[in-house]
Amino acid sequence: MTAEILSVGTELLMGQIANTDAQYISRRLAELGITIYRQATVGDNPARLREALTQALGRADLVITTGGLGPTEDDLTKETVAEVMGKTLVMHRPSYQRMVRWLEKVGRPLTDNNLKQAMLPEDAVVLDNVYGTAPGCIMERDGRAVAVLPGPPHELKAMFEGQLAPWLMQKSGVTIRSKFLHVFGIGESLLETMLKDLFHTEDPTLALYCSPGEVVCRVTSRADTDEEALKRIRPLEEEILSRVGDHFYGEGADLTINRAAFEALRARGQTVCFAESLTGGRLAASIVDCPGASDVLKESYITYCDEAKHRVLGVRQDTLDRFTCVSAQCAAEMAEGARRISKADWGVSTTGIAGPDGGTADTPVGTVFIGIAGPNGARGQGFRFAGDRDAVRLQAVKWACDILRKEIGKA
Ligand code: ATP
Ligand code: MG
Repeated sequence: MTAEILSVGTELLMGQIANTDAQYISRRLAELGITIYRQATVGDNPARLREALTQALGRADLVITTGGLGPTEDDLTKETVAEVMGKTLVMHRPSYQRMVRWLEKVGRPLTDNNLKQAMLPEDAVVLDNVYGTAPGCIMERDGRAVAVLPGPPHELKAMFEGQLAPWLMQKSGVTIRSKFLHVFGIGESLLETMLKDLFHTEDPTLALYCSPGEVVCRVTSRADTDEEALKRIRPLEEEILSRVGDHFYGEGADLTINRAAFEALRARGQTVCFAESLTGGRLAASIVDCPGASDVLKESYITYCDEAKHRVLGVRQDTLDRFTCVSAQCAAEMAEGARRISKADWGVSTTGIAGPDGGTADTPVGTVFIGIAGPNGARGQGFRFAGDRDAVRLQAVKWACDILRKEIGKA
C-alpha cells in the first residue's frame, strides 16, 4: 500500500504552525509498513485542495488529509473530498447524537454550523472523535481510499491510533508490531557502532531515533499474528539489552526519561525533592508532567543565587567561596539540603552555566553539575553539555532524571 499526506490549512502555509500532524502520520505509517511517497500542504481553498487530491489519488492507494473538519465556513475538507470521490453527504445520526452529548458535557450550545460536522457519505467508514465534535471518515472508491482526519493533534492522534491504524492493518492483512527500547547516555553514533551487526536482518528490523542524550531503538516485525511478531522480536531485543546494560531505561512508544524516574519512585513508594538552579523549576515540572506526581513530589526549590543556596538549602559559605556554586561540592550540598528540609527519600540538584554569557576558561558555558542525595549519602557529578541555553537546560533535566532512576535502582 502506498500513501500520501495532504495537509489542509492556511496557517500551515503561512508558517504560523508547524506541520506536526504530517510528521506524526508519516512516522506511524512507516511503522505500519506503509510506503509514503509524498506530503503536500494546501491552504483552506477548495479549488487547490481538489486539484491536489485528484493528483494524489492518481498515484497513491491511500490519501490522508488533515484539518478543515471544524464547523466554520473555511473548514471544507470533507465536503471537497466527498465531491472528488463522487459521494453525497447525508446526516449521520450516531455522529449527530454523539456531538449533542459532547457539547452538553462541555457546556456549549449546538449551533447550526455544528450540524455540518455530522454530515458524512452514506458508505463511509466513520472515525469517531474522542476529543472533539468532528468525526473523521474513510471514503473508498475504485480501490483507492481517502482518510479525512481533524487538525488538532490530540484529536488526530486518538483517531489514528484508535481507529485508522487498526483499519489499515486489517486492510494490509499483516500485523506489524514494534517495540521501543529507550537508551540514555550513549550517543547515536556510539550506539550504532555497538549494534552494527544487528541492522542487517530482514525481520525483525532495527532502527534508531535520537534526541539530546538519548536514543530509541525501534525493533519491528511483520507477522500474521501479534504473538508471532513478538516472538520474533524477543531475541533481538534481548541482544540489544545485553549490550547497552543499565543505559536501557524502559520500553514503550511514549516513554520518556522523566517518566522513567517518576515510575521508579512510585514503584517503591519513595519521594523526591529538587534543588534547582539553572533548570529553574523545569526538573520539578518534568515530574509534575506525569499523572500521579503528588505521590512522589511534595515540594521543590529554585535557588538561583548563592545567598539562596546557602540560606534555603544550607550550602556552606565555605563551599561557595572555595569551589563556587558551579561545582560538584555545591551540587552535592544542594541535593543534601533539599533532602533534609523536605524529608524526602531523594534530593536532586542542578547547578551550572546555561549561557550564552557567564562562561569562563575553567567553567565554560554548558558546564553543569548534578547532585544526588539518598540513603547512601550525597555526591555531585560534572557534565559539559553542548548547544544553546535551552539545550543545556534540557540536557540537565534529562541527565538529572537519569541519575535519579539509576540511583533508585541501586539503592
Ligand atoms: P477545528 O474544529 O479546531 O477547526 P479542524 O479539523 O478544522 O479543527 P483546522 O481548523 O485545520 O482543523 O486546525 C485547527 C487547529 O489544529 C489549528 O489551529 C492548529 O492548532 C492545529 N493543526 C491543524 N493542522 C495541523 C497540522 N498539520 N499540524 C499540527 N497542528 C495542526
Ligand atoms: Mg478548523
